[in-house]
Amino acid sequence: MSQYGLLIDYEYCTGCHSCEVSCKNEKKLAHGVYGIKLSEIGPFEITPGNWEWNYIPSPTKLCDLCADRIEKGEKPACVLHCLGLAMDYGPVEELAKKMAAKGKKMVMFVP
Ligand code: SF4
Ligand code: SF4
Repeated sequence: MSQYGLLIDYEYCTGCHSCEVSCKNEKKLAHGVYGIKLSEIGPFEITPGNWEWNYIPSPTKLCDLCADRIEKGEKPACVLHCLGLAMDYGPVEELAKKMAAKGKKMVMFVP
């Protein structure tokens, strides 16, 4: 049986926090508790005039890949509500192929 995970394309993450909020609503998490948390990295200069500034959402150990929703045939809440269409859910083999095809600015999370 396949193992499943989340794929995050942070090139397209706008930093909108919808993944955080939808996860907190779905899991009914208390103030200050997160199933996924957004980090801002940068801005920093890689080479003269060439800047990086990224938002990277990181699932925490509380993430269970929305097992209850998946059982009902629904997408994980964070994937459904991602305004940048930057999140994907699926078997790790498929996610790894997407990562390899793109080659950069993606992270995979497998709980
Ligand atoms: S898959 Fe579900 S539990 Fe995991 S970060 Fe997304 S919304 Fe939260
Ligand atoms: S919902 Fe999507 S675009 Fe918004 S912060 Fe999360 S990953 Fe980024």
